[in-house]
Amino acid sequence: MDIEIECPYCGELVTIFVDPSGGESQTYVEDCPACCRPWTIHAVEEEPGGFAVGVARQDE
Ligand SMILES: [Zn+2]
Repeated sequence: MDIEIECPYCGELVTIFVDPSGGESQTYVEDCPACCRPWTIHAVEEEPGGFAVGVARQDE
């Protein structure tokens, strides 16, 4: 499913894809398509098909 987030480095609004088949709690690393810096993404399925996504900088 597609989720819109704000890059914690450059503030760009970016749509990311969370794979529901990856489990109800997922943590992975993805690079910002705008500034190419790495995010740590944490996605938690709060309801069937509904993910809450948090994005953190890797240098924190
Ligand atoms: Zn960025």
